[in-house]
Amino acid sequence: MVSVPPEILMTPGPVPVPPVVLKELSLQIGHHRTPQFQKVLQRVLEMLPPVFETAQRAMVLTSTGTGGMEALVVNTLSPGDEAVCVVAGKFGERWAAMAESYGIIVHRFQVEWGLSVSVSAFESFLRELRKEPQAVLVQACETSTGALQPIRELAATVRKSAPNALLLVDGITALGAYPLPMDQWGIDGLVGGSQKAFMLPTGLSLIALSERAWDKTQSAKCPRFYFDLRKERKANLGGETAYSSNVPLIRSLDAVLSWIEEIGGFRAVHKRIAGLSLATRESARLLGLSPFAATPSPSLTALKLPTEVDGSKLRSHIERTHSVVTMGGQDQLKGRVLRIGHMGYISDEDLIQTIRAIGESLRTLNPESSLSPEQVHTAVLHCQSVLNRYPAPWKQPL
Ligand SMILES: *Cc1c(COP(=O)(O)O)cnc(C)c1O
Repeated sequence: MVSVPPEILMTPGPVPVPPVVLKELSLQIGHHRTPQFQKVLQRVLEMLPPVFETAQRAMVLTSTGTGGMEALVVNTLSPGDEAVCVVAGKFGERWAAMAESYGIIVHRFQVEWGLSVSVSAFESFLRELRKEPQAVLVQACETSTGALQPIRELAATVRKSAPNALLLVDGITALGAYPLPMDQWGIDGLVGGSQKAFMLPTGLSLIALSERAWDKTQSAKCPRFYFDLRKERKANLGGETAYSSNVPLIRSLDAVLSWIEEIGGFRAVHKRIAGLSLATRESARLLGLSPFAATPSPSLTALKLPTEVDGSKLRSHIERTHSVVTMGGQDQLKGRVLRIGHMGYISDEDLIQTIRAIGESLRTLNPESSLSPEQVHTAVLHCQSVLNRYPAPWKQPL
């Protein structure tokens, strides 16, 4: 066996998984066409719609989150259709490029990285289009910058200014991390990812469509085969998935959803995530760091680094000396931010260790810095005091 040194995973996906998931993952592989597994799948399909807060069915696809984003596009749109895509970072760019690769005419609503959509500017943008678009694509949280998008307000704007457009939301770092009530807000397509707030390994995307979006699946002309959601729904109604089920991950999803119910439901998980993000922002401020995003998402914090600090060096120093794994920035943010995830099975000690690691590494890498050991200590103590108000809803190992 290869021994893996213990590390604290503080990235915005993948995230640490709880013991119930580790236990499932250690079990012998089962076959999907057995009554035992069909019961598991049935339970999962019953537990999922409440997570989306929808009266519609929700589905599980064996793919990473990007596959779920693709499923939303190909099942509801046709080549030549027009779509507005909010591009506020790397994931917005990905979705716009994906839609274009299917022949969709994409109107990019560009947002400066780190900012959230201005709803009034977005409304003008929609009004000024020559034609009403068939869809609006947006991230609920743009993970590359840590910015939260105002989905509720955007949904209301789309309903008013482009009433026939479907609102498709990439909720991969949102669904399960903070409230995103699909039906109440009027979201037509929503996708989540297993390795984010669902606290599982990478490999499943979770997806739901509104009734209007399901109607569109009949007329949509984008090529689709594996991700044909009509086939998936039909198979689900018969107690199966369209192709071989991902037995270990679906069993783990069953276990994690039941466990979350036991610890107080997603409301309790949301609260913990909000506490971890608050503790991170406040203690980082004591280290002289502020969030990069103007309106940060609860699910992760991207910390803006001082110009004299090389972000890639900081990140690897933190990893080497404290075994804390964080994420850097991508593209234009390379070396300029440090991203810390708040989803998953994170203990108080994990975050405290992270804050200490950031403080100590900043001091080591930048001897000129005015950051004192006392300030690092104060930040660590403050982190603990915020977390005391937001205890983990699960029993923490001693
Ligand atoms: C993680 C993430 C994805 C999906 O990434 P995969 O690697 O395909 O799972 C998509 N959108 C956002 C906003 C994400 O954070």
